[in-house]
Amino acid sequence: MTPVYTAGMRRRNLLRAGLSAPLAGAALGGCVTPDAQRFQGTHRRMVLRDDPDYERWRQGMAWQTFKHDRYPDAIARPRTTLEVAEAVTYARRNRLQVVARSGGHNVSGAFLRDGGMLLDLGALRGAEVDVSRGSAWVEPALWSRNLARVLEPQGFAFPYAHCGTVPMGGYLLGGGVGLNGDSWGGIACANILEAEVVLASGELVRVNAEQRPDLYWAVRGAGTGFPGVVTRYRLKLHPAPRVLLSSAYVFTLAAATDAARWMERERRAAPEDTELMMLMAHSPQGPVAIARFVAFTAEQARAEQLLARYAAAPEAHKALVRMERVPTTFEQWFRESVDASRGLGFGSYGVETIWTDRLAESIDAVASAFAEAPSAMSHILISPRIHTATPEQAAFSMFGEAFIGVYSVWADGAHAANFAWLEHCAQLLAPFAKGRYVNETDGFAAPERVRSAFSEEAWKRLADVREREDRQGVFHGFPGWG
Ligand SMILES: Cc1cc2nc3c(=O)[nH]c(=O)nc-3n(C[C@H](O)[C@H](O)[C@H](O)COP(=O)(O)OP(=O)(O)OC[C@H]3O[C@@H](n4cnc5c(N)ncnc54)[C@H](O)[C@@H]3O)c2cc1C
Repeated sequence: MTPVYTAGMRRRNLLRAGLSAPLAGAALGGCVTPDAQRFQGTHRRMVLRDDPDYERWRQGMAWQTFKHDRYPDAIARPRTTLEVAEAVTYARRNRLQVVARSGGHNVSGAFLRDGGMLLDLGALRGAEVDVSRGSAWVEPALWSRNLARVLEPQGFAFPYAHCGTVPMGGYLLGGGVGLNGDSWGGIACANILEAEVVLASGELVRVNAEQRPDLYWAVRGAGTGFPGVVTRYRLKLHPAPRVLLSSAYVFTLAAATDAARWMERERRAAPEDTELMMLMAHSPQGPVAIARFVAFTAEQARAEQLLARYAAAPEAHKALVRMERVPTTFEQWFRESVDASRGLGFGSYGVETIWTDRLAESIDAVASAFAEAPSAMSHILISPRIHTATPEQAAFSMFGEAFIGVYSVWADGAHAANFAWLEHCAQLLAPFAKGRYVNETDGFAAPERVRSAFSEEAWKRLADVREREDRQGVFHGFPGWG
């Protein structure tokens, strides 16, 4: 019987054929020679769809328990920059469209595409601090918590993600709403001084304000539309605050809009070293809204002084519960961020976000829907104030005065009900949205939401950069856009 030779089989055979040329050096500016056997040989760094291990690898790509139904042809796990370059070259030659994955936190599963090659950078987790320059090179899969552990003994800090397991790769590429961000450049990607990137050609290049400024611009915010693989960033560091002091006020859900108005008032007056936060969550007693103020200071006295203002506010006296001047640390923060008993860091996730200048109205619009969430693990996270100056030389170009993230989180199999609730909240918030956050919107479900994460100008420039840097379309585009 003559075997039917499908395009898929051809691709698999090409993948298996292996090329015997030795690896070239991975010096900056140099290309590497692909060698498939290195990936499929004894070290098992690539699986194809018919491999018995494929599904286990695929499932392992997403940080959350919900697994999107999309299937790449190949999953490769390079261990070094050299191997990243090798894998990209290999994929290009074999017409496998590439998408990178650092930590798999993107809730819409942007790293899972049908067909092509998923490049899992999970092994690239290093950090190298240059104390004299006040900067650090960090690899993409390095968790926020682990970066803090490296920096703190050296007296430095960074606007880490609020959850300790979020790695630098996708977080920075899409912007980064970070801890104490207002003191440290606003959006975290404003701290990217340079980056090393593997291009569609397989060439490894360094990008900064002088060298390849277009790619430098793109690496600061293009997110899932970036035309390359970032293998490391050099970040500007900041002096570590010695004191982290937090005051939280818990309100009934009925008082959530008043709490948001309080935040709107305070955000204008609050100094940069105070982070304003709001959370809508389900407590054992029912849904609540929590207003929280965290001071990041060098001295205890200043932190106390900053928080005294909130303790004296009339709203604080209406709170059901007051938890004032509670000392915390980055480590404690990160531990709490993955506390499954609080419904954090575990389960199936869906997320939608907006940037808005109308915080209180938005909260008012979504409050009763919040009370009806099918899962008590779901929550709404609000950053009532983000430093609104758009960073220069950055694709990150969409801001509002406040940021609202609706997190649908569930532990049972009720996927449809929880996704439907998320979409209902997204619709309720839409009239108040200036735009969205590329890292936390689902372009597969609604492509125009990805577009709304960028200004018109940035969107056009990004299309130009992509066209110039990746003529052959080696890299997948934004979810929902290609
Ligand atoms: C529990 C939780 C807490 C969060 N907290 C915050 C927060 O406090 N602040 C905030 O801003 N965001 C937060 N996020 C959102 C987070 O920023 C995004 O999910 C981000 O995509 C995570 O980065 P990642 O490296 O895991 O991305 P991945 O999921 O691995 O990748 C997402 C996409 O980014 C691109 N990509 C990733 N790495 C690379 C790379 N090295 N080179 C090229 N392209 C790459 C690819 O297109 C990929 O599809 C949170 C998410 C979760 C689930």
